[in-house]
Amino acid sequence: MQILEKSGLEAWKKAKEMKPEKVISLLNKKGLAGRGGACFPAGTKWEFALNSESDKKYVICNADEGEPGTFKDKYIIINNPETLVEGILIACNTIGAKHAYIYLRREYRYLEKNLTKIIKKIIKKADTDIQIDIVLGAGAYICGEETAIIRSIEGRRGQPYYKPPFPAVEGLFGKPTIINNVETLANVPLAIIKDDWNPNLRLFSLSGNLKNPGIYEMPLGTSLKELIALGKPEKSIKAIYFGCAGGCIPFNQEWKIDPEFINSTGCMLGSCTMIAVDESQSIVDIVTIIAKFFEYESCGKCTPCREGSMRILSLLEKISLGYANMDDIKLLEELCCVIRDSSLCGLGQSSTMHILTALKNFREEFEEKCRLR
Ligand code: SF4
Repeated sequence: MQILEKSGLEAWKKAKEMKPEKVISLLNKKGLAGRGGACFPAGTKWEFALNSESDKKYVICNADEGEPGTFKDKYIIINNPETLVEGILIACNTIGAKHAYIYLRREYRYLEKNLTKIIKKIIKKADTDIQIDIVLGAGAYICGEETAIIRSIEGRRGQPYYKPPFPAVEGLFGKPTIINNVETLANVPLAIIKDDWNPNLRLFSLSGNLKNPGIYEMPLGTSLKELIALGKPEKSIKAIYFGCAGGCIPFNQEWKIDPEFINSTGCMLGSCTMIAVDESQSIVDIVTIIAKFFEYESCGKCTPCREGSMRILSLLEKISLGYANMDDIKLLEELCCVIRDSSLCGLGQSSTMHILTALKNFREEFEEKCRLR
């Protein structure tokens, strides 16, 4: 697997000898896009922080992998922590930061001891005074959002805030900060040092109704059929969920896993999470479970998400129990659009995508429940 290759600090040495602008243009030329979901070019993000004048700058490695069904960052932290730490050092050196934080999801706290050991070892070998600290999250899904991470590391309530200013200009403690996901940073040394580094290879977290769930590295453009076959489904698959926030599509074997195509279906490929759902499952039940998750995880800062997620859940429970009518489905759809269009952060904005795409692709299952009445 490409992601398990190591640079052995060769990339660090090479990057140190280059001007920061050259490192950034190399990463852009190689096509390193963020792997946390937004696919924003990593080099461009670094450029904003490099060009922001400040006495202090920070790098944050987002290891708060909270999206249900996603476990690729954990895989990297366990199997190639050296390359991840090297990527963090290169990011710091490029933008001029002396301090980095790894924001580690609390459920991964058992990885903290080994990661601390690797950080010490790599910093010593790299002979640098850059400091890397691990901060454990408290278990909130919202702290995967970059502004909420900043608040959380500052010791404040982990809630998002309005942008701009963007973190690369004014982030942690009011200083320019770049926040990159684990997979992005672990790819930095490999992109710098390897001529044959492939920007299209992604780690897919496969789970759901599969005999062989796990992490699979495949190129973008692979067909759904090929990818899902790796997980060995035992029954016929009817839907694919892109985590909880990315929405769902019917399982069309010929469709390719291409971010633009997935977006055109109303879904989001995000961090390449795929939950396979077989024909024995009820989409209405799945949608209701996911809605409970979002209702619980809403941080409560803005009204559409806080109040709307509760209303959505009660409507879905009504549908699921067979007490609803067709007007309730329409109301549900309208409410989802309002929450999507008026919530403050990505959590609220994407929290109804799974319902809207389920209504688009599996509407008959909702209508069937309403006919029970
Ligand atoms: S959309 Fe939801 S999670 Fe985001 S700020 Fe508003 S209440 Fe909090």
